[in-house]
Amino acid sequence: MLNIVLFGPPGAGKGTQAVRIKDHYSLVHLSTGDIFRHNIKNSTELGVMAKSYMDKGELVPDEVTIKMLESEVLKHPNSSGFIFDGFPRTTTQAQTLDDFLHSKNISITKMIALDVPDEELIARLLLRGKDSGRPDDQNREVIANRIKVYEAQTSILADYYRLQNKLVCVDGIGSVDEITDRLYVAIDN
Ligand code: AMP
Repeated sequence: MLNIVLFGPPGAGKGTQAVRIKDHYSLVHLSTGDIFRHNIKNSTELGVMAKSYMDKGELVPDEVTIKMLESEVLKHPNSSGFIFDGFPRTTTQAQTLDDFLHSKNISITKMIALDVPDEELIARLLLRGKDSGRPDDQNREVIANRIKVYEAQTSILADYYRLQNKLVCVDGIGSVDEITDRLYVAIDN
């Protein structure tokens, strides 16, 4: 089984690359941001709650996010692996994910971190906001807060996986195809 955490700040290209990796390795793609947006679109209770955090660029509380992610994993008992995109984002999420996977006799194979400088992230997010329809991509303050939250709560997870010898860093600057090729090399080696 191949279980990848695709890691990096908002705008690093995780969503775009995760879809390619999912197809290439026949994995199940779990994007917590996409699942929240799906719930917002369908006006579910979870969606209404998540929106109040997402609109400000804050993290949705761990308890609900973890419960949602675990139920998604359980929907795919026969999968050949998962690509986690946008999860984990806190140390509690990472530890709970490890415990949950171990209880199923599986584990994270690698965390692949996309490196992209802040100025590039902001430019990419504003560009994406023009046609993604995502409100959190259209407001500079919300973008700045998402990057701040990433630095304060999420970036530390690189150390969490480094300590397990699972961290691989990949340069996230270049064409989409170039970055995909680098990711395949990182996963295959
Ligand atoms: P993303 O699509 O990954 O950029 O996520 C969009 C927003 O969804 C984030 O800014 C958070 O508000 C929320 N979100 C996504 N994944 C998580 C997570 N693992 N933990 C908490 N909040 C999350």
